[in-house]
Amino acid sequence: MAAALPSSSPLLPGEAVLGVMGGGQLGRMFVHAAQALGYHCVVLDPDADSPAGAVAQEHLRAGYLDEAALDALAQRCDAITTEFENVPAQALQRLAQTRTVAPGAACVAICQDRAEEKAHFVRSGVPCAPYAVLRGAADVAAVPDALLPGILKTSRMGYDGKGQRRVADRAQLAAAFAELGVDCVLEQLLPLRLELSVIVARGADGAVVSYPVQQNLHRDGILAVTEVPAPQADEALQREARAAAAAIAAGMGYVGVLCVEFFVLQDGRLVVNEMAPRPHNSGHYTMNACDVSQFEMQVRAMAGLPLREPRLHSPVVMLNLLGDLWFDAAGRERTPDWAGVLALPGAALHLYGKAQARPGRKMGHLNLVAATPEAARDSARRACALLGLPETW
Ligand code: ATP
Ligand code: MG
Repeated sequence: MAAALPSSSPLLPGEAVLGVMGGGQLGRMFVHAAQALGYHCVVLDPDADSPAGAVAQEHLRAGYLDEAALDALAQRCDAITTEFENVPAQALQRLAQTRTVAPGAACVAICQDRAEEKAHFVRSGVPCAPYAVLRGAADVAAVPDALLPGILKTSRMGYDGKGQRRVADRAQLAAAFAELGVDCVLEQLLPLRLELSVIVARGADGAVVSYPVQQNLHRDGILAVTEVPAPQADEALQREARAAAAAIAAGMGYVGVLCVEFFVLQDGRLVVNEMAPRPHNSGHYTMNACDVSQFEMQVRAMAGLPLREPRLHSPVVMLNLLGDLWFDAAGRERTPDWAGVLALPGAALHLYGKAQARPGRKMGHLNLVAATPEAARDSARRACALLGLPETW
């Protein structure tokens, strides 16, 4: 069944085997989409309780650098993707020796390192925050005053606001850099009006499609709410963001689904923040509001199937469901009021099958679709009240 070398003919539903590096919720939703199309799925993840491993036909329980497991995955699958950006680049390189791997190791490596990522934005002609790469004390001394106050971010392994420090002046910068103890990027602290992101997909043939722009609200560094259509982004800004995301994907020969995060500054300028080489939390709205979800688009891209422009058929609000909802004000465990939530118009619940709720842990999300943005917000407002989420509107 598995071809010996990457081929340009599509891997057909009902026949081919697709592999995923990583077993979290993104892998789980990818597997669901691939299985709906008729693919057989294999997940590689060391965790016996992995959300994706629990739904895939096969789960290889091994580390990401386990060569025997990687060879078994390559043997078993026709094409392989990844669901988290910190998968070791060597692992993807090894798989790519015999199989189609999308996105490729070189693209994932760019996204793993903020310094590389920023260099790619500059190459692509898309403005990002003014920044400096800090590798030692001399770099701290050489930082231009214009970058302060700023945000110091570890170059690698940051997510959900982890590995970041706001610094007001050079003394704080030196202290934070010493405390983090690894290579960092310092970015100028920008005056944000709002945050947007774009899901874009590119095929091996160079075809690029993108989804309607989403507007995102973060709480404590974690995505909390996504709204589409983006209420505060006009047509021109949306076109600009989608074109920038497409240029960023094309500029690195990317194959697969890519999420590009943007800031809109107080003066209205669009600035790229960062990117993720995979489907993204802010793209979960596509599961219920579009005619092709971001996960199906990833399947199509890696399988060499046609990518077509996705259509938003309903305005939508996505609420992230963190583990905090499983505890009451006194810290006692509880089950959120799912029956109440599911009675709301347009509500679609997605839980990731994680046994243990912990504050800040992504347990699921809720999409609220409606005929109008106002009606979607109305359902979302009622869901927030039922679940004990903070008021957004
Ligand atoms: P994730 O991977 O979960 O999206 P992250 O940990 O990689 O997050 P960033 O996206 O870099 O972090 O930053 C998190 C949030 O911090 C942003 O969404 C934004 O609200 C704020 N932020 C980051 N950089 C800047 C900046 N230069 N100026 C102002 N605010 C910023
Ligand atoms: Mg981010």
